[in-house]
Amino acid sequence: MNILIYLNQKNNYLSDYSKELLNIASNLTKNKDFNIYLVSLYSESLKNLKNDLKNWNIKKIFFILNKDNYYIYPTKISHILASLKKDLNIDVIIMGNSLFELDIAPYLSMRLEFDYIPNISSFFLENNQIIFDRLIYGTKALEKSTYNLKNLVCIFNNNINKNQPWKINANKYNNIPIDFIKYKSNENILYELKNRVLKKQKKHPLETSKIVIGVGKGIQNPENFQLIENLANILGAGIGVTRSVVDHGWRPEYEKIGQTGKIIKPDLYIAIGLSGAMQHIAGVKQARHILSINNNPNAEIFKYSDLGIVGDLFEIIPKLITYLNHL
Ligand SMILES: Cc1cc2nc3c(=O)[nH]c(=O)nc-3n(C[C@H](O)[C@H](O)[C@H](O)COP(=O)(O)OP(=O)(O)OC[C@H]3O[C@@H](n4cnc5c(N)ncnc54)[C@H](O)[C@@H]3O)c2cc1C
Repeated sequence: MNILIYLNQKNNYLSDYSKELLNIASNLTKNKDFNIYLVSLYSESLKNLKNDLKNWNIKKIFFILNKDNYYIYPTKISHILASLKKDLNIDVIIMGNSLFELDIAPYLSMRLEFDYIPNISSFFLENNQIIFDRLIYGTKALEKSTYNLKNLVCIFNNNINKNQPWKINANKYNNIPIDFIKYKSNENILYELKNRVLKKQKKHPLETSKIVIGVGKGIQNPENFQLIENLANILGAGIGVTRSVVDHGWRPEYEKIGQTGKIIKPDLYIAIGLSGAMQHIAGVKQARHILSINNNPNAEIFKYSDLGIVGDLFEIIPKLITYLNHL
């Protein structure tokens, strides 16, 4: 059984969910029937990856060299993964859940005629089969399925394999072979990138903040976000929004939480002026605690909340800020 794991990077470092994929890889390597291959873009931060994984039974690491710093087209990465599949006779391709991989995976599965399974939230392997859970219908239902580990592209949800440290101290040095693949920008691209705008780096990123404030249409206009920013600064919280807020153009797309946005797992989610539509809940269901503020006592969000405050956010939040400032 040959398994290829694609490790994505953020700002030239392995992203947190790629480290989670390494946790999965470390478990898979314990099974002698699995040949594990890793593939990632090359960056300085990964030059020690081979040593970090030195007692793992990894067959080979492939680094994609992007010397001229071209924009990385998802379709081009798909071509590279497809040719690795062919050369190595890969049965299963595993990726993490980000917009980049969500772009690659369906395309790749079509191209290879592999089945595509997104949103896997837990799994185990038995007798060359994968038995997995995945949330469907906007998290209203949990599908339990079994597939043969053959001809599959799988996407694992983030925040499910966090617990183990992926760097394991080793006694034994196992020399993992490395291959370099050159990234060329100028062939087989379906579209051309004309311009790139870097998004503002947040002090408290939505994906990793322990406290996240989710804001809905009840905020009424973009200027009122100042109130939310004040609260977020005091709490050290990240800010996310509903699709309505994005559709109104009040906040950028990358702050959207939910089925078509980000899936987060903070310790505390503070839902302000949002109704709790199932597509939004899909992104916050895994929060440890939910506190909500809504002026409609029948708002759906209260069904999911540990604590609910019925009232006008424009009265409650200034009071909350004053209280927190006096703590
Ligand atoms: C295919 C599909 C995918 C979707 N994906 C997503 C997704 O990924 N993420 C997402 O968020 N949505 C998604 N949606 C949209 C979703 O169905 C809802 O329409 C959206 O989440 C509602 O946003 P909202 O809660 O901000 O607005 P509303 O539903 O209009 O709720 C506003 C809330 O604010 C409260 N409120 C108003 N004024 C105040 C005040 N002064 N004080 C306190 N409370 C107040 C109201 O009582 C109300 O509950 C999707 C929809 C579809 C069909």
